[in-house]
Amino acid sequence: MAELVFFSGTMDSGKSTLALQMHHNHAARGRDGVLFTRHDRAGAATISSRLGLTQRAHEVDDSTDFWSDVISRRTHGRPVDYLIGDEAQFYTAEQVEQLARVVDELGVDVFVFGISTDFRARLFPGAARLVELADRVEVLQVRALCWCGARATHNARTIGGAMVVEGAQVVVGDVQPGADEVAYEVLCRRHHMRRMTAAAARASSVTAQTLTTSVDELSL
Ligand SMILES: [Zn+2]
Repeated sequence: MAELVFFSGTMDSGKSTLALQMHHNHAARGRDGVLFTRHDRAGAATISSRLGLTQRAHEVDDSTDFWSDVISRRTHGRPVDYLIGDEAQFYTAEQVEQLARVVDELGVDVFVFGISTDFRARLFPGAARLVELADRVEVLQVRALCWCGARATHNARTIGGAMVVEGAQVVVGDVQPGADEVAYEVLCRRHHMRRMTAAAARASSVTAQTLTTSVDELSL
């Protein structure tokens, strides 16, 4: 039986690495697969992992129709045994429904990888539909860590190092952010709720040290 499986994890939990590994394993058994992604940090039509692996993939946009795509490939002679989709949080709810139909009516395995919640800790529409429709949701076992060492479960958006909680749901961050640029950081829930990024924690520990030093000086 074909399956729709949603592999969910925060940033830095190895989703793209696992997507490429899974493609390798299936291709090595002679199965025919098609790779998709949307807004990968390395640019359009590429799946890139933090470990340095990259592979060409088809870029999904709002006009992508997975159902027609698979039908068209099969019409042109490709078997299409499985689809691998990275950055699935950026797919529309309708595209997730197309993926479910591809599984049920065409017998294609669909393995999609993505983040569940956005920088405000709200589900992305694509991720919500995947949680509703997937045969299985697998939470990735490689744990990303917050700066405090606790398990990171939330994605924070930062601008110039400070956490923000308002703005468009989809803004692609810079890989090497400058002072005013958007970036993302994984945090534990406690520090996400307190808006305490690594930079904010460093700044407040410097302030605390300065205060302690002044108090020591006063008491001398
Ligand atoms: Zn933390």
